[in-house]
Amino acid sequence: MKVNDLSKIRNIGIAAHIDAGKTTTTERILFYCGNIYKMGEVHEGTATTDWMIQEQERGITITSAAVTCYWKNYEINIIDTPGHVDFTIEVERSLRVLDGAVCVFDGVHGVEPQSETVWRQADRYKVPRICFINKLDRVGAHFEEAVASIKERLHGNPVPIQLPIGKEGDFKGVIDLVGMKAFLWQDDQGNKFSTEEIPADLLDEALIAREELIEKLSEYNDEMLEKILEGKEVTTEEIAKVLRQATIDLKITPTLCGSAFKNKGIQPLLDAVLAYLPSPSDIPEVHGLSADDKEEQLVRKRSEKDPFSALAFKIVSDPFVGVLTYMRIYSGQCETGEVLLNTRTGKRERVQKILHMQANTREEVSVAKSGDILAFVGLKQVATGDTLCDQKFPIRFESVMLPEPVIFVAIEPKSSQDADKLQKSLERLLLEDPTFHLKEEKETAQTLIGGMGELHLDIMVDRLKREFNVSVNVGSPQVAYRESISQSVSLEEVFAREVNNKKQFAQVKLRLEPSEDQGPLHVENLAKETQIPAKFMKAVKKGLENAVNSGPIAGFPVVGVKAVVLGGAFDEAASDEIAFEIAAGMALRACLQQGQAIMLEPVMALEVMAPDEYLSSVITDLNARKARVNHINQRGPLQVVDAFGPLSAMFGYSTDLRSLSQGRGSYSMKFAKYEQVSKDTLAKIRGY
Ligand code: GDP
Repeated sequence: MKVNDLSKIRNIGIAAHIDAGKTTTTERILFYCGNIYKMGEVHEGTATTDWMIQEQERGITITSAAVTCYWKNYEINIIDTPGHVDFTIEVERSLRVLDGAVCVFDGVHGVEPQSETVWRQADRYKVPRICFINKLDRVGAHFEEAVASIKERLHGNPVPIQLPIGKEGDFKGVIDLVGMKAFLWQDDQGNKFSTEEIPADLLDEALIAREELIEKLSEYNDEMLEKILEGKEVTTEEIAKVLRQATIDLKITPTLCGSAFKNKGIQPLLDAVLAYLPSPSDIPEVHGLSADDKEEQLVRKRSEKDPFSALAFKIVSDPFVGVLTYMRIYSGQCETGEVLLNTRTGKRERVQKILHMQANTREEVSVAKSGDILAFVGLKQVATGDTLCDQKFPIRFESVMLPEPVIFVAIEPKSSQDADKLQKSLERLLLEDPTFHLKEEKETAQTLIGGMGELHLDIMVDRLKREFNVSVNVGSPQVAYRESISQSVSLEEVFAREVNNKKQFAQVKLRLEPSEDQGPLHVENLAKETQIPAKFMKAVKKGLENAVNSGPIAGFPVVGVKAVVLGGAFDEAASDEIAFEIAAGMALRACLQQGQAIMLEPVMALEVMAPDEYLSSVITDLNARKARVNHINQRGPLQVVDAFGPLSAMFGYSTDLRSLSQGRGSYSMKFAKYEQVSKDTLAKIRGY
């Protein structure tokens, strides 16, 4: 029952801070769309999208499950996005392939730390959004305040297109400001709701809110502005049309309200998804790069007639069919049995089966078309972020930005049986999750796994056990240190050697300077063509990039440096690429030795929330961990502490915070930057 008309497809994500009600909202959507026949409650661990066992136990949604549902003959593909910061890569990946998103907020707390992360990511990927202020049935819920927090904390432009009817326990329904109607829910399951006139006592408020809505819209639409200035009536259709365009152009965010748990407000939310979020045909083109070194800009029209192109955004091992590759199809079409090109590996891949995934059922289809989100079976060497395309028309979509791991733990198999399976299982997990890393420590012969935080690694170890039946012993967490320099150094190095009667020669003059930028090495070339010909510059860069992989203190990668190639010399007969690569590496290593090397450690940005009475214990504990408190804000009944703390001191924080706040504190933690380690830490790293 797939929909063919692109304008009737919505590919959306549901994004939220953990506990805001994303899973419950998704569940209700699936229920009203007829995908499921019984509502599962999240706290019972039966919600349909929470299909992984760990998610059910931990009550968090880790993996983006793609689910299709149908509302008023439109196809809605929902990519369930995770809320936990340790899994932001999942959010990034899904945002990359979505056309629009519903951001769910807790009506009591408003914007929370992780909502900020997700919001910024959605900005980065230019994803149009609508906001859903949930939990309006709860004591302390406040629609206007939640809307205000989106303005203040996210610098968004939320525009209410609904107003709540009733508060907290009396929350009954919503006023639709576009159509000027009231929707009231009566039955427990929320299947039926009546459409009525706006209650008299709320009419004035609704008229004012509608006027504000029209005023906002007229800022983006001259015709509407003229009508207002001429004192003419603006119609419901006109509002809806301008609202849709302004949402797609990322100018405003229509904001709705409801209570997923009490089954109120979901049907109008679905209507808003159809009305205001874009279809694949609203975004007519997608940009990519040529698959060769030239990286030329290429464009694909989002139409079935253009050559096939698709992005693999999720890989899951499935007990029944093997590896499932979730694909977002951007252009063209592809049938079962066809052979596609993976532009990263240059390998051909045959599509054995194409599956249309429901939360936990699946339907086989024979064709994948532009606009679809489907799972392919049979692809052998595909990793997340790879582009698969028509062999004759190669294209590469920009890969998702991948953060580096900040934490490692050593693992070893518990038994010889486990040892056999461990390598294969780890390889599978690596393909599924590009933020998960594997490292063999040569000196100690240890296997280390790395990731984005303690919880990330806990879950990976858990998955090894449950999905792959591999038991491992886990060592204590190790921080991913970095090295840098504190002083600029300029020097020159010559590589001159005779091998098999052939002379080799290259000279590189280099300045290495400390830099604020902790990203990949930045190389600036000031050398003249007469000193280092352009044809050798690639080799020079390669030599420099290789040399920063290992620092002078303890062999950790070097960050926060900039390399300026000042000059050099070559010999027509004796210089080649290898010679320049070696000379550049020698120069960089020499600079590192002389530049007063320093050790850096990952520092995490923390936001800790706890009721007033626990504030002083939270602060005392943070101080003991050498965390720096930036500021403390009151948010409702909670104190919110912003701080930076070294990762090495934050191990076990979730357990400690829970015990010192009697379970009432919560926090989010994500990598912020590398900072110089204290003398004590340096001594520990050096082993004395
Ligand atoms: P997620 O972490 O964002 O997926 O949030 P969940 O859907 O798991 O919801 C977190 C908790 O809030 C669960 O215990 C839900 O039952 C509860 N919850 C969700 N929506 C509402 C709501 O509208 N009202 C109330 N009172 N509770 C809700």
